[in-house]
Amino acid sequence: MALELSHITKTFRTGASEVCALEDCSFTVNDGEFVSLIGPSGCGKSTLLYIAAGLEEATSGTVMLDDRALRGPGKERGMVFQNYTLYPWLTVEQNIKFPFRLKANMDYARPNAVIMGEIEYAGHLLEIMGLAQFRNRYPRELSGGMKQRVAIARALTNKPRILLMDEPFGALDAQTREELQELMLLLGLYEKTTTLLVTHDIEEAIYLADRVIVLSARPGRILEEIIVPFPKDRLLDIKLTPEFLALK
Ligand code: ADP
Ligand code: MG
Repeated sequence: MALELSHITKTFRTGASEVCALEDCSFTVNDGEFVSLIGPSGCGKSTLLYIAAGLEEATSGTVMLDDRALRGPGKERGMVFQNYTLYPWLTVEQNIKFPFRLKANMDYARPNAVIMGEIEYAGHLLEIMGLAQFRNRYPRELSGGMKQRVAIARALTNKPRILLMDEPFGALDAQTREELQELMLLLGLYEKTTTLLVTHDIEEAIYLADRVIVLSARPGRILEEIIVPFPKDRLLDIKLTPEFLALK
């Protein structure tokens, strides 16, 4: 089991008022699994994802990754937001390599061979995300879909145990959204990524996931879990280009 959230409750206090955003939420994401989290606006989806990412602290409850209790953010979790959050002063390639620099700054004693391996991996991410020819562009020179590809690649740079995505395709037009959804399926297939996706698009939730978790309106509580039947069948619809086949 990769990620395990147990009895998560979250109360926000602003002045004298209190908002109960989540109440006793428990669920798991298994190794290699793609789980979609769906529910009405304001039901606590983002809060739950932020708690899983360690960007927000639960009022009570625990977050475990590979049976280890987590506190605060860490490189074993990659995060993708709706608004891309790229570094505007860095090129596509520099954005993707940035997490290496953060890690290298924290760890002076790493052998060069490891760092070389990471640089190769960044090149691999540029290829599989279809970004190779954009490597020297700046975020302002990219479409929304391309920016989100960069953000996904950057989230994968440190080979996280789990990819956490908060409505990543919500701001994109229908065709671009479809392209990126297919890319997510292929990432699952070739990179064996474990993913937790927050979305309010039920079709997207079912199309991408092995399992869909449905949250009720406030206070967020899990209503049901749906196992998507024969999930791998949907892969038959994808046109596998020579570039993708070469990755097998
Ligand atoms: P969703 O992502 O499902 O739309 P959120 O997790 O953003 O929902 O929010 C859940 C509830 O918690 C909402 O009522 C929201 O107003 C409240 N909330 C979220 N973040 C904060 C915050 N930082 N301070 C106060 N209330 C918040
Ligand atoms: Mg949200």
